[in-house]
Amino acid sequence: MNDAFLFDDAHAALSFAFHYAHRQHVGSPLGKLWKPSSEGGKGLSGVDGAAQAGMIRAEAERSGHSGYLSLIARYAPKRLRCDCGRACCSGYRANEEWQESVAVLGDLSIRALSGCVSNRRLRVGIVRRYFGERIKLAELAGLCGVAENTASAHNGKIARYLREIESAAWLIVSDRLISAEIVKNEQAA
Ligand SMILES: [Zn+2]
Repeated sequence: MNDAFLFDDAHAALSFAFHYAHRQHVGSPLGKLWKPSSEGGKGLSGVDGAAQAGMIRAEAERSGHSGYLSLIARYAPKRLRCDCGRACCSGYRANEEWQESVAVLGDLSIRALSGCVSNRRLRVGIVRRYFGERIKLAELAGLCGVAENTASAHNGKIARYLREIESAAWLIVSDRLISAEIVKNEQAA
C-alpha cells in the first residue's frame, strides 16, 4: 500500500532534486552517477524523474527563503561538466544556481555581524567555505584586505548563523518529505 516513497532518506531526495536539472546529457558522468538504481529511487526516469525532482524542490522551498538557499548550497553541485570544447575549457563550469545561493546567503549573513564593519567579499567567501569549498581563511583574509583575526571572528559568527538556518530548514524539509511520502519514515519502519 505504501508504495509512494522513493528515497531512503531526505539527503538522497535532496541530492537527487538539486542535481536533476543538470543531468540532461545522457551518458555524461553526472547522468551516469544519477541513474535511479544508484540513488535508491524506484525506476525514476524522464518526465517522472523531473516531476519528482520538482516535488522535492517544492517541499524544500517551504523551508523559507534563506532555508531554501541553504539547501541549494548544501545539495546542488558546485560545478558542472562543460562540453564546450574550447581550448581554455577545464571541462567544468560553475553551477549558477549554487553561485547565486552562496552570494545571496553572503548578503543575508550581514545580519550575523551587527555592529561590525564587514566586507561583502569576505562574507561570501566565508559562506562558500562553510558549504564545502576549499578556501583557506588566511588567504581569504589577505584577498579581502582584512586582518586574519577579523576574518576568523566573522567566520565564527557567520558559521553559527548558517548552521541555524540550515538545521531549521533540514528539520522542516525532512518532515515534509516524510509527510509527502517521498522519503521513508524510519520511525514507522
Ligand atoms: Zn567549457
